Amino acid sequence: MHVRAPAKGRNAARPVKAFTVVVGCGRLGAHIASSLSESGEGVVIIDVSREAFLKLPPSFDGMTMTGDAAELSILEEADLASASALIAVTERDNTNIMIAQIARELYKVPRVIARLYDPDRQCVYQEFGIGTISPVLLSTKEIEHILHPEALNI
Ligand code: AMP
Repeated sequence: MHVRAPAKGRNAARPVKAFTVVVGCGRLGAHIASSLSESGEGVVIIDVSREAFLKLPPSFDGMTMTGDAAELSILEEADLASASALIAVTERDNTNIMIAQIARELYKVPRVIARLYDPDRQCVYQEFGIGTISPVLLSTKEIEHILHPEALNI
């Protein structure tokens, strides 16, 4: 596993303040992580590929960890038990749900969100305390708003 120090050399140790663990530094994960970091929140972002972190802007002030977040040792290393939130945004629904369930059940992380490409699975996980986002449903809603903006004022 490789842990990169914060970009600006500050906060060399893991953030003491509340922090969010983001799993998957793809387009969405990198965007969320840099947005949280910009608003002053602590962030630990994990990806299996070290190259994935190239998507982060130079201003990113969080920590990066290279490794498979489906492995407990990696989640331990990320100090998941102390995290205030976990966001699972790898490209695989099953991986996101599995990591989200581990975060909720094992590490009692207060806020957990998983991305699900399959919209039919979305409602299943609410009862486990896992928030889900579906790009399909969000895009559908947004397209409907653009097509019928008047419907927003009802
Ligand atoms: P994207 O499809 O652009 O949202 O990217 C998803 C990211 O998740 C990629 O950078 C993958 O390398 C990363 N990823 C996939 N599986 C895992 C995993 N088990 N642990 C950590 N990162 C992962």
